[in-house]
Amino acid sequence: MPELPEVETTRRGIAPHVTERTVRSVVVREPRLRWRVPHDFAQSLTGQRVAAVRRRAKYLLLDTATGTVIVHLGMSGSLRVLPAAHPTVDHDHLDIVFDNGTCLRFNDPRRFGCVLWTKEDPLTHRLLKSLAPEPLEKNFDTEYLVRHGRGRKVAVKQFLMNSRVVVGVGNIYASEALFRAGVRPTRHAGKVSRNEWQKIARAIKTVLRASIRSGGTTLRDYVNPEGNPGYFKQRLFVYERAGEPCRRCGTKIKHLVQGQRSSYYCPGCQK
Ligand SMILES: [Zn+2]
Repeated sequence: MPELPEVETTRRGIAPHVTERTVRSVVVREPRLRWRVPHDFAQSLTGQRVAAVRRRAKYLLLDTATGTVIVHLGMSGSLRVLPAAHPTVDHDHLDIVFDNGTCLRFNDPRRFGCVLWTKEDPLTHRLLKSLAPEPLEKNFDTEYLVRHGRGRKVAVKQFLMNSRVVVGVGNIYASEALFRAGVRPTRHAGKVSRNEWQKIARAIKTVLRASIRSGGTTLRDYVNPEGNPGYFKQRLFVYERAGEPCRRCGTKIKHLVQGQRSSYYCPGCQK
């Protein structure tokens, strides 16, 4: 599933190729995505110039003078910049065709993604308006976590994966950040110390930035028909390493299920 680093890498991959480009046409082959592509989507977007490509949480926003395209990649979506005449493959549901003969092509086998249009400020859109802070922004810090974690009995890992607390910290990143911070995923959020919250905030930023950096090497694949705009792996300490020795202390990594999601931790390194 595309996580926040993959979405940010997608943004960086497509932005230079679509910014300042004018939309010549729109081809919708399959409107039945998670939410239906609006019936007037092509009409609204055609003739508009893309002013910027932004990201909020896992939503990509293509700004134009009259409105904004909101894209979510869902479970299996991807975006590529290709020659508009490039043959389509299965699940190529939508093309935004530009004045230079390229297109932005949306592919999504499972169709949990979406392509929407809003004339309002997209940050006030119903899907975006209640989103918590971005983990890489300054307002996501020790004080923020101390304030929101106070008195909470929920496990710290589930707390971090709650998009009302912070957006885009998926299972891999929560597991890896808690390892780096030395905190067990099962600890009650209310029992995490200020010092530990500081380590957790730093670790989340570190693992997300490392993942975005490793994605930087795949940027050319966003414009390469043969490439794979892939989802990249950084060197993981605990995630999906149950039974294997900890890379720091050699203790066997443990697995447990929290809120129907797998958690992994090192009993030696995490208290
Ligand atoms: Zn260890």
